[in-house]
Amino acid sequence: MLDEILANNARFLQQQTLSPIGHAPRKHTALITCMDCRLVTMFEEALGLQRGEVLELRTAGATISEPDRPQAANDLIRSLAGGIYLLGVRKVLVIGHTECGLGHVNSTALTASMQALGVDPQKLIQQEGLGDINGLMRWLGAFQDVHVNVKEVVNTIRTSPFLPRIPVHGLVIDINTGKLTVVDRDAREASIA
Ligand SMILES: [Zn+2]
Repeated sequence: MLDEILANNARFLQQQTLSPIGHAPRKHTALITCMDCRLVTMFEEALGLQRGEVLELRTAGATISEPDRPQAANDLIRSLAGGIYLLGVRKVLVIGHTECGLGHVNSTALTASMQALGVDPQKLIQQEGLGDINGLMRWLGAFQDVHVNVKEVVNTIRTSPFLPRIPVHGLVIDINTGKLTVVDRDAREASIA
């Protein structure tokens, strides 16, 4: 895969010259979405996004996992703080997606996969004080309903002491069609711009 990427890169450099642009997003917007491979390219096309317009932050599940929510100081919040205070971001969109892997985590499959790769889930749970398999699932960011989860992440961002009170909207994108559904429109901004 690495050699394939390097070959693609050599071709890219021959064919294209990128125009220099600034690192502050022109739309003053940060988008949080999932790492799902089906979102690659499709996500930007479905939202009509161009290079230089927005910040894109991706986490597994477009989520802040439950143990990190009370302090709201995890790496995603840190990235948003950088975007807001240093790069002029003034609105945030949290965009989960249908058929998300973290919405369908099977604890048996998870522990079997860990064991096959030489990690003892029980030892890890004990060592890290996670309580039980559900604690491990919460650490991983597993959730039941993507719509509910997006709302919870939106609220975590809205109430984080590290961030100012700017509009934070919640949406879900259909992974098969690219259709967006608004699940939480922030009243502080009349329309999503
Ligand atoms: Zn996902």
